[in-house]
Amino acid sequence: MLATSTRIVLADPEAVLKPLCAHLVEHEAVVTDEGGAKVIRLDAAEARLGLSATALDVSVEAPDIAGLQAMKRAIASHVVEFAPQGEVPQIRWNGDGTGPALPADFRVLTVTGVETITPHMRRIRLRGENLARFDQIEALHVRLFIPPADLAEPAWPMVGEDGLLVLPPPEARPSIRKYTIREIDAAAGTIALDFVLHDDAGPGSAFAARAKAGDRVGMAGPGGRGLKLAERYVFLADETGLPAVARMLENLPAEAVGQAFIEIADTGEEQDLRVPAGIAVTWLHRGDAAPGSRPLLQDTFAALDWPAEGPGVYLWAAAEHGAFRDIRAAAKSKLRPERDQHLIVSYWRQGVAEEQHTATKRAEASRA
Ligand SMILES: Cc1cc2nc3c(=O)[nH]c(=O)nc-3n(C[C@H](O)[C@H](O)[C@H](O)COP(=O)(O)OP(=O)(O)OC[C@H]3O[C@@H](n4cnc5c(N)ncnc54)[C@H](O)[C@@H]3O)c2cc1C
Repeated sequence: MLATSTRIVLADPEAVLKPLCAHLVEHEAVVTDEGGAKVIRLDAAEARLGLSATALDVSVEAPDIAGLQAMKRAIASHVVEFAPQGEVPQIRWNGDGTGPALPADFRVLTVTGVETITPHMRRIRLRGENLARFDQIEALHVRLFIPPADLAEPAWPMVGEDGLLVLPPPEARPSIRKYTIREIDAAAGTIALDFVLHDDAGPGSAFAARAKAGDRVGMAGPGGRGLKLAERYVFLADETGLPAVARMLENLPAEAVGQAFIEIADTGEEQDLRVPAGIAVTWLHRGDAAPGSRPLLQDTFAALDWPAEGPGVYLWAAAEHGAFRDIRAAAKSKLRPERDQHLIVSYWRQGVAEEQHTATKRAEASRA
């Protein structure tokens, strides 16, 4: 077990402790009263918060540095959030994992090669250390930290001595974009990501277009829900979801059955996929129409035969926001809740950069 502790002096510690505990319960922490202290359990980490008239005494234990950082950050960020206006709590942790450090789920990767897969898909090969946590089919995507193109020495987010995340100054701050791990060999320290090259390129597409051996990016994660076992599979994706579908298809059991529908521009964008014999792949061509402008995936889903009786289906769909919205709405009446599973995700939104897209998704989720 790793251990760390801090004494946080506050004008009214109780007024901070109460909302902090209530808030962490909403984030799936378990909070109990033990021996006059509040004990917070979050995954495998445990924090004990003792109250005095002038301070919170906090001690944290966790089996690894990721758990320690996550608990320190959960406590420090909420102490800061719930301290009354004008009070700036001073937090300094003592013990294991103190001092500025890269976040435990963060890796710096170096580009080793670039391949053209199709005219609009580039594979970037990268090398990094300690990649084992990224090698799982249950969590496929990562947050990529892309430094500004003209920066000589990239700067990364760090965990400060107070346990909070410190971002590089705005001029050096990396842009964050989500991508899917297409290939990984953790033992060899290698990883491959497939990037769509699109018009109106943002930092992600522009990085893929200019990347060369020696360039560095940061990577955090992994995240998301990945492959589930099912009696039948239906995959619906545009080219941004293609890397995930391709990786899942490669990892399905040989006897898996189902269909994969993938929207791309034209035959030039089709890829050779390794697919179980029982999975039929259909490429949907939108031709010269702009990505996300034709309801090809929606119409395909609407036309799918979905018998009331029959095997349980795993539906996985990822595409532009309009397709996501329509498929999610249609799935409500089509899926059989007692039998089918699903993951339907908005991967990008026409005319909107990732920051705005994520902010809108968060606002919609909290309204829901
Ligand atoms: C979990 C997850 C996994 C993903 N995995 C992948 C992956 O493996 N490979 C991949 O290429 N993408 C993937 N995406 C989608 C990718 O994150 C977005 O396309 C992202 O917006 C690209 O960032 P950017 O900097 O290029 O463009 P942004 O700065 O985000 O946007 C700039 C402009 O480009 C437009 N735009 C964004 N993406 C596209 C597109 N694909 N086609 C046409 N116009 C677009 C936007 O609407 C906006 O107008 C994933 C998304 C999620 C949520």
